[in-house]
Amino acid sequence: MTLRRVMILGTGPAGLTAAIYAARANLQPLIIEGNEPGGQLTLTTEVENFPGFPEGVMGPELMQSMREQAERFGAEFVTGFVTSVDLSKRPFTVIVDEKDSYQAQSLIISTGASAKRLGIEGELEMTGRGVSTCATCDGFFFRNKPIIVVGGGDSAMEEATFLTKFASEVVIVHRREELRASKVMQERARNNSKIRFELGMLPTAVERDEHKVTGLVVRDVVTGETKSLKTDGIFVAIGHSPNTGFLAEQLEVDPVGYIKTKGVTTATSVEGVFACGDVADPLYRQAITAAGSGCKAALDVEKFLEGQSAQDWSVSLQA
Ligand code: NAP
Repeated sequence: MTLRRVMILGTGPAGLTAAIYAARANLQPLIIEGNEPGGQLTLTTEVENFPGFPEGVMGPELMQSMREQAERFGAEFVTGFVTSVDLSKRPFTVIVDEKDSYQAQSLIISTGASAKRLGIEGELEMTGRGVSTCATCDGFFFRNKPIIVVGGGDSAMEEATFLTKFASEVVIVHRREELRASKVMQERARNNSKIRFELGMLPTAVERDEHKVTGLVVRDVVTGETKSLKTDGIFVAIGHSPNTGFLAEQLEVDPVGYIKTKGVTTATSVEGVFACGDVADPLYRQAITAAGSGCKAALDVEKFLEGQSAQDWSVSLQA
């Protein structure tokens, strides 16, 4: 059993910024790096809007730099998936991969959000065999082939535009006539000659043969008619949901599952537990806002720990 002053769950921009601040404050943070080390930015290409990089920076490179910066100040990383936590008493218990147990006087939860699924026939079976939620990871496999991107938000526009580098054609399938994406992203997609739109179309099934995806069945939301759009690849870009399943309702969350925080702080409904980044942010969801909230969480933890009695620290801080 390992006892720490602070454990950080998740290694996106929020978790890594919290790690940098907590490590510099000599809190010797232990960071649990989950299934997607580096978080969503490792699934993107170039990040153009993170301040300090006038020429842009590749997402994975940015995350690697943040990780190294945290390590430089003594942050320690453990790779594994947080399967459950016990927040009923302090120190809190964190179970990793259903077997390894850790304890900490305070927790920073920065587990981010994951790609949503359509929930249609054939989607799960064909994931990794033509259905993907990551254009950066899988676009390469569709050189000179037709691709469908599902979704009408900024992610769908961005992925579609990126995928034109590889695909012979990209069809954006969206369930409504109006796109949700910002004007600038819409314009970029509309001005790309390789992109075509199928609007007002609801995906209903993934068509496939024994080995690969062959098409997407869609239903016209006005007429109710269905048709098949032939394709080799389907990229699902319909947003994300917060990764809070492991909490088992021990923290207050909103109806979608985002962790609720108090006022301008990162404090949650349980004293000593703090949340930052996309797991607590249904609104902004940017790398820079996640990083900013990670900084706030570390400062909140520092203040919380200062308020604890000295006897709390009479335990070993070593693994
Ligand atoms: P989003 O804005 O929530 O859009 C999700 C899209 O998927 C919507 O068009 C939605 O349709 C559609 N959708 C949801 N569930 C569906 C289902 N079951 N079947 C079919 N379609 C479904 O998510 P996002 O595009 O991932 O963007 C999230 C946030 O990140 C936004 O704030 C966005 O601005 C930001 N972002 C910014 C950038 C950038 O600036 N570079 C890039 C990516 C994301 P409806 O429209 O009908 O609801």
